[in-house]
Amino acid sequence: MLREVTMEDISDGRTYELNDMVKCDTGDCKDCHKCCMGMGNSIILDPIDIVRLKNTLGFSFEELLKMNYIELNMVDGLILPNIKMNESDMCSFLDENGRCSVHKDRPGICRIFPLGRVYDDKGFKYFVQKGECIKEANLIKIKVKKWIDTEQVSQNQEYIMRWHSFIRYIGDRMLKLRSSGRGEILNDIAMYVLNEFYVKDFTLTDRVVEEKQDYINDFYVVIFDRIDEAYKSIDTLN
Ligand code: SF4
Ligand code: SF4
Repeated sequence: MLREVTMEDISDGRTYELNDMVKCDTGDCKDCHKCCMGMGNSIILDPIDIVRLKNTLGFSFEELLKMNYIELNMVDGLILPNIKMNESDMCSFLDENGRCSVHKDRPGICRIFPLGRVYDDKGFKYFVQKGECIKEANLIKIKVKKWIDTEQVSQNQEYIMRWHSFIRYIGDRMLKLRSSGRGEILNDIAMYVLNEFYVKDFTLTDRVVEEKQDYINDFYVVIFDRIDEAYKSIDTLN
């Protein structure tokens, strides 16, 4: 979800790049899982998050929904999945010891927290979210790249930027279509995005994927093509 807020509202105004040192290391979140509880529908998942969860749990998108790990909500006109809180208002992936049971494949929002991302035309940078982490006063310095703990980081950064631009583009197109009286096709666009980028798999071939690297590689190759195709399809709508 894109938020229109000033940096002063949500941070100390400083931004960071991958090789910068930043005070955001929570010390392994010892004895704390506050940000895995009571999050409502705010942990929105992007396509790579779903791919990672599917791979580590062995479930399809529909099964993740049916088993109440995730749910769907409308976000800025799109139908997007988010982590579902359980009846105790905790993330379903939190184990009995208060630890994340999908830690190595946790969603991007969880991966970078308490960092957030701020975008401009050239790309994005990271910032420390103010008032979000209970250990804010005791956070330790760490290199951004190490904290976000993401494999194939250059490709991942390109993916984040391309996905972000695509989502913005769709938002603009939807606004234009609505104002030109074509509101009836907005649901079709939302369903198209859901199916193409969340429900459908991203494998290049039918081979059995044994290496973690392989499915992530496939994902990047396929999603870049799929985004290009989607621009063409949505561009033709008038
Ligand atoms: S609030 Fe901070 S310390 Fe607690 S679980 Fe979240 S990130 Fe970790
Ligand atoms: S996926 Fe893991 S880190 Fe993210 S909210 Fe759930 S338990 Fe916490």
